[in-house]
Amino acid sequence: MGHADILMAVVVVLQAFFGLGWAASASLLRLAPRPALNWGVSAALIAVALILFLLRGRAPDLLAHPVANVLALAALMTIRRGLQAFLRLPLRDRESAAVLLLCAGFNLVWAGPQGSWPAGAVIATSGCVAWTLGRTTLEILAPLRREFGAAGAWLVAWPYALGTLLFSLRFGLGLLLPAQVARPVNVDNAFNIGVVLTILVLNLAINASLAVLVLLRLVRKLQRLSNHDPLTGLLNRRRLMQVLREQKQALLRHGEPWSLLLLDLDHFKRVNDEHGHAAGDHVLVTVATLLKAQARELDQVARMGGEEFCIVLPRTGAEGAQLLAERLRQALAQAPLATGDDGQATALHMTVSIGVASCTSADESADQVLGRADRALYAAKHAGRNRVSVAASVLPAGPPGRAAAAS
Ligand code: GH3
Ligand code: MG
Ligand code: MG
Repeated sequence: MGHADILMAVVVVLQAFFGLGWAASASLLRLAPRPALNWGVSAALIAVALILFLLRGRAPDLLAHPVANVLALAALMTIRRGLQAFLRLPLRDRESAAVLLLCAGFNLVWAGPQGSWPAGAVIATSGCVAWTLGRTTLEILAPLRREFGAAGAWLVAWPYALGTLLFSLRFGLGLLLPAQVARPVNVDNAFNIGVVLTILVLNLAINASLAVLVLLRLVRKLQRLSNHDPLTGLLNRRRLMQVLREQKQALLRHGEPWSLLLLDLDHFKRVNDEHGHAAGDHVLVTVATLLKAQARELDQVARMGGEEFCIVLPRTGAEGAQLLAERLRQALAQAPLATGDDGQATALHMTVSIGVASCTSADESADQVLGRADRALYAAKHAGRNRVSVAASVLPAGPPGRAAAAS
């Protein structure tokens, strides 16, 4: 067994591990099942292709070369197919079938039993592999960038880009120096050992990048779940507290004041009592949509729980916050809020009470600002609801937590 053969045997064993891993991901863990199934099949195809390469001399030539080459290409196409499924891109099976047939044709013509021009088969296969990897790279970059940003996109896409480059090189060099370069991959020369090593590294990199891809999406999903309210999709209380800490930091570093609106729907319990809990939920979602639409892009809208919402207004003083609160109050009072999506739904009119607190002192904690907004909200409720109440500001030098709510 030559060095190239030993390396290839290592890749076969790795494929078995990867194949089992993706099969487990698809069936046991239900993690990206359809893409994982494609990637598992791809690992099996590569393993069979490499075993056929290794059996060269013992197996019929037709199997050892044309079939193995076509299987290896089909494996890459299956990886691409899994990526297309994962990123919800159109499957390009017809394109893959055409390239596969082209590759099979060249292989059969040039690497027939008599081996009329074995180098031709290597060149043609390298060309088709470069094409497939190149198309994969171009196809996945934009959707990956949209979902994970530029760094995340390249973390996943680099093995395909590198593979495109290397197989294009092999294709080009094969045309220029067919005798040296384009020899069957398990012929033991330095160049081929390099090729097999590259295949080994690319293989590891591709499987690692696929695992990274699945993990990246999982982490994103968990982050979304842990930061958002499931009913309205707004930020939840947990994320809100982080946002408040960030505002405190911004005030400390750049002296930027910030404000907070605490909103509580008036007599919301009646909606549940008169129209049912589902209608109440629907109204809450509609209110959330309205608040998001009315708030500025910079503002962060959160659901505190129940029918209570909070809007953080970065770089905004008391006056601006009061204006926005008043605009929100009026918009909500005027908007008809449907109790459902169907013909049975009725349109309600609701009002909201809003407590406003502004923070200009880095000494004041987020909880203290929230406390002031809460007391202002309580004052608004007491004063008759459907109104905005602004908390007295805390002067930077003053003792924290002593502010009184004032209408
Ligand atoms: P107030 O004007 O004093 O704020 O009166 P209110 O009725 O709005 O306030 P109260 O605290 O008495 O009632 C709040 C209601 O909100 C009671 C609860 O059933 C309802 N609620 C809390 N969370 C949800 C939810 O997720 N969905 C629905 N449908 N109702 C909820
Ligand atoms: Mg209420
Ligand atoms: Mg309430």
